[in-house]
Amino acid sequence: METANLSPVTAAYLQLEEKFGAHNYHPIPVVLEKGEGIYLWDVEGKKYVDFLSGYSAVNQGHCHPKIIQALTQQAQKLTLTSRAFHNNLLGQYEQYITQYFHYEKVLPMNTGVEGGETAIKLARRWAYAKKGVPENKAKIIFAEGNFWGRTLAAISSSTDPSSYHQFGPFMPGFELVPYNNTEALEKALQDPNVAAFMVEPIQGEAGVVIPDEGYLTKVRALCTQYNVLFIADEIQTGLARTGKMLACDHENVKPDILILGKALSGGTVPVSAVLADDFIMMNIKPGEHGSTYGGNPLACAVAMAALDVLKEESLADNAERMGQLLRAKLEQLQSPYIKTIRGKGLLNAIVINHPNPDAAWELCLLLKERGLLAKPTHGDKIRFAPPLIINEEQINESVSIIGSALAALS
Ligand code: PLP
Repeated sequence: METANLSPVTAAYLQLEEKFGAHNYHPIPVVLEKGEGIYLWDVEGKKYVDFLSGYSAVNQGHCHPKIIQALTQQAQKLTLTSRAFHNNLLGQYEQYITQYFHYEKVLPMNTGVEGGETAIKLARRWAYAKKGVPENKAKIIFAEGNFWGRTLAAISSSTDPSSYHQFGPFMPGFELVPYNNTEALEKALQDPNVAAFMVEPIQGEAGVVIPDEGYLTKVRALCTQYNVLFIADEIQTGLARTGKMLACDHENVKPDILILGKALSGGTVPVSAVLADDFIMMNIKPGEHGSTYGGNPLACAVAMAALDVLKEESLADNAERMGQLLRAKLEQLQSPYIKTIRGKGLLNAIVINHPNPDAAWELCLLLKERGLLAKPTHGDKIRFAPPLIINEEQINESVSIIGSALAALS
């Protein structure tokens, strides 16, 4: 571990993790201890603009007062009952979120990847119970470049060797088609055993890959035509991040199954949700799926507050406006080291153009020194995804930090 340029305080924290924690991450060497709004502070009191937002879990900003109030009030009353019993918030939350997103039912889970697993189980069950697919023959189609987490099922659909290498054997019944290619999708959907196509409306981890306009519309039409469920993984793109409440709203399409996570709790506790109508959801009977923590009253209270904040503060509109400003200002930098600037709302990425393959990492270190936190994804891409409460002045401040870091990149 490289600690030469770090203060002894920071180095000590890093060494502790290095010694006692699994080495399954490669973080930027900063140790954070406080967050408020778009800002974070490290253990030495240095302030940063957060340009990652906990991988889009902190859309509402760090420690949003309304969300923290809901969390602390509920934490003092009741946190977990398990689903062996009812709790007084679950029904209220279920009504709230289904009306919010216009679905008949919700199935509450915790992490995003559990949401994905749940969606696939629902699709497989629907295929056997309703579509008439022979038992154990159901197929799920995914797009190349997808990312939906780290469980064995999730890595079984991955095209990224760092996700799947030496973790096999893999889940059967999964197939891949190229992203943003509706011809290949149509071919795959013609197989009568296909239960669902699961896709991110914008591929986040792959580096903010935006499909052509009309892709989601065509996906919706093809899924309907071939009697296949359209599962939208909006765990990263949803909840106002891309300038609409859902990324699917950009094309006014409604997936059959919608998966939400991350910002559903405003970055406080893991809360995910799978939404669908009765013809899908009611094929699952008591005892056939669940989770100890899914639907716990603490999560219900936090999720309602987190969803309230998105609308009360018009965060989708702000993300749209600030995203446009951010991309325009980045263009104005005219840096030779930026190959591409792309994004929708406040889900953005730059692709670095530099002979040094570690340049994106080096740039993130320069950004950190100057008070902005971002992280490379897939080597040469850096995601720029600040909390959606960011204002014009803060965008300007951030872009000048980015400009200064680019100028210092050798
Ligand atoms: N789906 C998408 C699109 C994601 O970006 C992620 C995480 O980055 C996940 C699913 C998995 O979520 P979690 O890490 O909460 O399991």
